[in-house]
Parts: sequence; C-alpha cells; structure tokens
Amino acid sequence: MPALHQNSAEVIVPVRHPTRIARRRIEDQPGLWHIRRVIPFFFFLFGIVIGSFLNVCIARIPEGISIVSPGSKCPRCNTPIKPYDNIPVLGWLILRGKCRNCHLPISPMYPIVEFLTGALFVLTYYTYGITLPTFKYLIFACLIMILIVTDIRVRILPDAINAFGFGIGLAFATRIFPDNFPMLIRVGQLPSWAVGVLDALLGAAFGSFLLWSAAALYKLVRKREGMGMGDVKMMAMVGTFLGLRGSFLTILLGTLLGSLLGIALIVVLFLFGWKTDLAHRASRRGLGDVSSLRWTIASQYQLPLGSFLGIACFIVVYGIPWFGWPSFLGSTILRP
Ligand SMILES: [Zn+2]
Repeated sequence: MPALHQNSAEVIVPVRHPTRIARRRIEDQPGLWHIRRVIPFFFFLFGIVIGSFLNVCIARIPEGISIVSPGSKCPRCNTPIKPYDNIPVLGWLILRGKCRNCHLPISPMYPIVEFLTGALFVLTYYTYGITLPTFKYLIFACLIMILIVTDIRVRILPDAINAFGFGIGLAFATRIFPDNFPMLIRVGQLPSWAVGVLDALLGAAFGSFLLWSAAALYKLVRKREGMGMGDVKMMAMVGTFLGLRGSFLTILLGTLLGSLLGIALIVVLFLFGWKTDLAHRASRRGLGDVSSLRWTIASQYQLPLGSFLGIACFIVVYGIPWFGWPSFLGSTILRP
C-alpha cells in the first residue's frame, strides 16, 4: 500500500502542453498557467450546452421546423419543457428519462448527444489547445454530430447542414492552410490563403467524386441504389474542412468501417431473427426457404453510410494527430 500511495503522489504533475510547431496559445501566457486545470471542464460544460442545441437541430431540421422558435417541447404531449428540466444531461437523468407532464419516455438520444458533444469539445481542446483550428474543429464536430445522428435516425443528411458546412469550411481554409501541401502546388508560388482554398476545393471535389463513382459502380454491379446523393454532398463539405488528404483518408476509413460493421450488423440482424414473420409469409408464397429469405432481408438493411463517414472524420481529426502524424491536417500542434 505505501508503494501505491507513493506512485499516486508522483502522478500529480502540472498539466503541460508542449508544442511541436511554435504557435501562440492563449493558455500558454505565463500569467494564466493556473487556469489550465479548469479549461477542460469549461470546454465540457460549453460542449453539453451546445449539444443540447444540436439535439434541437437533429429533431427539427429533417422535419423542416425552425430551430430557433418555439422553445423546447415534449415531443409527445407538446408541453413546453421548463428551464430547470432542460439542463443538459442532468435534466434527463433527474426525470429518469420521462416527461414531467405525460410521463412517457424521452429518447436517451438527448443526453447521449449532449454528453458526446461535451466529450468532443474536451478532445478538441486536448488536441488543438485554444487556437484558430480549435474553433474550426469545434464547429466541424457539431456539424458531423448532427449528420451522424440524423443519418442513424431517419437516413437523411440534410442539405442545410452540408451547404452551411461547405461555406464555413471554405472560410476557414483562407486562414488555416496546410503547412506541407504537395510540392506541385507550392511551385506555383500561390499566396497561403489560396493554397488553403485550393486544398479545400480539391478535397471537396475529390471526396465527392470518389464517393459518387463508388455509388455508380455499386449501382452497376448490384442493380440498385447503394447510397444517396446526401453522402456525396457530405463528402464535399468534409473536403473543405479536411482538405485533399483528409477527405481521402475519411473515405478510406469510413467505407472500411461501414463494410466491417455493416456485415457484423447484418449477421446480428439475421441471428436475432429480424423480420422473421416477413420471411415466413414470403416462404409460404413459395419464394424460397425461410432461412435464405431471412438472410436476403437482413442484407437489404440500409446502412447509414453517412454515420460511418462521420465517425471516420472524428478518427482523422482526433486520432491521426495523436498517433504519429501531428501535422497531418496542417494545423495540428499538440503532442503530449
Ligand atoms: Zn410529455
């Protein structure tokens, strides 16, 4: 026990963020060292509050309802939610996931989205400090969060989010540009902002074209629609944020993740007897034996490709800089 105690005492060291590429960070000011311990906490609080707004977007944008007014209502009984019940994460926990008025269950999606947004905000801080890229990736994380959940819920990747993100991504590209863009471009002696915009546009064009051709190929081989234009538009938006290399890696990881998890999901649906009734009915009409019909039905399950691409975006933004390639996106600064 004494040894353990000694170890835990050794663990307490000041939080430090040594930078690899010199770039001024607000919390590196000598006078502000003591607030570093509370910064992640504030990022989390800010994140769960923003997450609560993302829930509004997720619930309302596919329905075409304004995200500004009216205020939050119970989706079942339409009673306005009281401010003290609307506290992110805690409100849902205190009410045990039930509406105070009608006592019908409230989806756990709400606290989960809030908590995950808080976690992503903390992760953004630990990866990028307090810099311009942090601001960029906070917005990006919010947009991707909306797309992931909307795609899971209703298989829609709203144009509003993709178009808005495309504009924001381009705007950031004029200020944050790749440090190490392929020589080919640098030869042209372009100003930095133009290199940034070029990288963003190339990322958008390449990302959406690659996905579009994959969709066309899929349609040709399987003779049915595999993915919608929503995924193609989403990749255009992602391209403006992550640039050429980032969007390439996103598609690579996203489709890999989609195929692995997709196959696993189809096997699970099959094993747990998804739509067995339908298979029995079809079998009675002489369309084949129940088992093979069940497999056919399970394999028709429409996977949320946009959600997989979204998860891949998070791996690229938060994973790659930590695992050995700190300047992959051109603006990564931290290496613990
Ligand atoms: Zn209610």
